[in-house]
Amino acid sequence: MDLQAMYQEIILDNYKRPSHRGLHEPFDIEVHHVNPTCGDEITLRLTLEGGRIANLSWDGLGCSISQASTSVMTTLVDSKTIEEVATISDAFLALMQGKGAVVPDEELLEDGVAFSGVAKYPARVKCALLGWMALKGAILQLTDREQTDAKILRIVPDGSKNES
Ligand code: ZN
Repeated sequence: MDLQAMYQEIILDNYKRPSHRGLHEPFDIEVHHVNPTCGDEITLRLTLEGGRIANLSWDGLGCSISQASTSVMTTLVDSKTIEEVATISDAFLALMQGKGAVVPDEELLEDGVAFSGVAKYPARVKCALLGWMALKGAILQLTDREQTDAKILRIVPDGSKNES
């Protein structure tokens, strides 16, 4: 089996048997991202536990590239630290924006390398990045929220944490 056929199989496999699919609780954050050019949609939920991604779940609809890429993404980032996730998603982004000229780091991206061929098709790059952008958005919102909470807690005189 040649490399392209193997990559295609990984994508189809993740499309037919997606990982972490099916929204569940608990979650600290839920984001919904849409790729209007293709009609792909992703809802992603996660929690942060001790700085690590946990309780990842998602649901979505759209083309096989968008759904399979989200499935692979969740497998790659599950239980990783925010720093590790940044390294992985930067590498995937670089691969997708490399127009097919970037040689992927297989150790870092694992099944993510299967999307190498997509980089040659600008219209499909957005499909492959949708789940990753949702992840990035979710982490940003969560870390923003934590920083805001920390600021609020510093100015509450008795330090008691108010549920809001
Ligand atoms: Zn798509």
